[in-house]
Amino acid sequence: MRLVLLGPPGAGKGTQAKELSARLGIPAISTGDIFRANVGQGTPLGLQAKTYMDAGEYVPDAVTNAMVKDRIAQPDCTGGFLLDGYPRTLAQVAELDAMLAERGERLDAVLELTADTDEVVQRLLGRAAVEGRADDTEDVIRRRLEVYAEQTAPLARVYADRGLLRRVDGMGAVAEVTSRLVGALHSA
Ligand code: ADP
Repeated sequence: MRLVLLGPPGAGKGTQAKELSARLGIPAISTGDIFRANVGQGTPLGLQAKTYMDAGEYVPDAVTNAMVKDRIAQPDCTGGFLLDGYPRTLAQVAELDAMLAERGERLDAVLELTADTDEVVQRLLGRAAVEGRADDTEDVIRRRLEVYAEQTAPLARVYADRGLLRRVDGMGAVAEVTSRLVGALHSA
């Protein structure tokens, strides 16, 4: 299966992506994780991405698209993949369409995890205390939510129009949310 996981920061995409990846036997590809790994290793890609990430802004599309194109061309993606955190802009949607078309592939479903704003801010502040992510400060969290509302929320409509969107409540226990996602996939 080729899947996209959509949802605001703090909705639990990363956690659920790992669960689904294990259950479905497909790699979970998190653009945020790839960027953070590159920042950690001080690669040129990391240096390019860091300023944007620290400010809660999106890394430029050209950088992100090239990275994803390269990643889905790896052999472990032949049988499918789950994209976590990509696409996030309409331009990325168009680019992903082109990448998949070139490969003779298509998306099977787009899962949207929904969450209310107060809850996600609390979750992210809690995570900041544990993981110390540079972009988990209150100001940057608010900016990430704004950028999501402006640039990424409109993607749900695009995928709904294609009949691909499955909306799933991201609130509740991890296992509960995973069951909802799996249920949504079965109806896909
Ligand atoms: P979250 O969903 O909690 O914001 P991520 O780990 O998915 O966290 O992303 C962290 C940061 O990485 C984003 O704020 C952004 O700067 C960058 N990033 C991740 N995915 C993309 C993308 N598809 N396009 C542009 N920037 C991205």
